[in-house]
Amino acid sequence: MATVDPDLPIRQAAIERARQLAQAYDDLVPVEILRQGFVFHEQHVSFGSFQKGIHRARVQRGAAALTLMTSLRDPYADAYGDAGFAYAYRAGPIDQADNRALRAAYELQTPLVYFRGIGPGQYLVVAPMFVTADDPATRTVRLEPGLPVQDMQPGGLVSPPEIRAYATREARYRLHQQRFKLDVMRAYRHRCAICALRERALVQAAHIVPDADPAGVAAVVNGLALCAIHHLAFDRNLLGIDPGGVVHIANRLLHEIDGPMLKAGLQGFHGEQIAVPRSPGDRPDPMRLEQRFEIFRRAAA
Ligand SMILES: [Zn+2]
Repeated sequence: MATVDPDLPIRQAAIERARQLAQAYDDLVPVEILRQGFVFHEQHVSFGSFQKGIHRARVQRGAAALTLMTSLRDPYADAYGDAGFAYAYRAGPIDQADNRALRAAYELQTPLVYFRGIGPGQYLVVAPMFVTADDPATRTVRLEPGLPVQDMQPGGLVSPPEIRAYATREARYRLHQQRFKLDVMRAYRHRCAICALRERALVQAAHIVPDADPAGVAAVVNGLALCAIHHLAFDRNLLGIDPGGVVHIANRLLHEIDGPMLKAGLQGFHGEQIAVPRSPGDRPDPMRLEQRFEIFRRAAA
């Protein structure tokens, strides 16, 4: 019978704060923000130094880690299949403080916050996360996400396997989407492929073939960097890009008269060539452009 974790209220506050930040920063939280930690009962609590992976905060009374962090390039991180994420002990003695805190999280079956490095100084938040297996022989534990509502009820810790599998798939999906976003932005140097706008707050990673489609993989060849207006116009089939990379504006908009946004921002790009990444391997796949352009043509007809 596991003992009750005295830090449960701190954990709830940490999970809540981490999830708020994930929402506020579009699922990719800058490390400077995470380093600010959070306030619990008028005390400052650290999310960790982000120099090392396993963190137990000074204000805690219990033995278990509060947060775990995986850096950008971690060889273990994707080792488990559908059953959660692998997490390695800290190097050195098995009974050193960090490893004790990690293993205590397993013994107590207590929720923690997991930060996964996706880009330089950018973290995806998975919370609540549970340590659901501990293997001292390979010096790894298994992490599985839970559900914030169900798992945070007193005594309701750790969901049944099917819920954990669902939460794991959801976390992996977010992971892929965030990587896609960063890869697309890097390939297009943060510029809209149509209008060349470079304001980071307004440029987004668009899928050429929608995500749900079997061909809609989260890879750069299925992506385009587009500003918010061109992204939405593309998604709504008001703007198409043919397999040759030429922009088409839907007839309905082409002859309409409105203000400068329509004229310069949309009509003005009709017939223009999109800008593609320098590296051929990063350029949009013509087959996917064609598949998508067919949808535009039917919608715009
Ligand atoms: Zn644009």
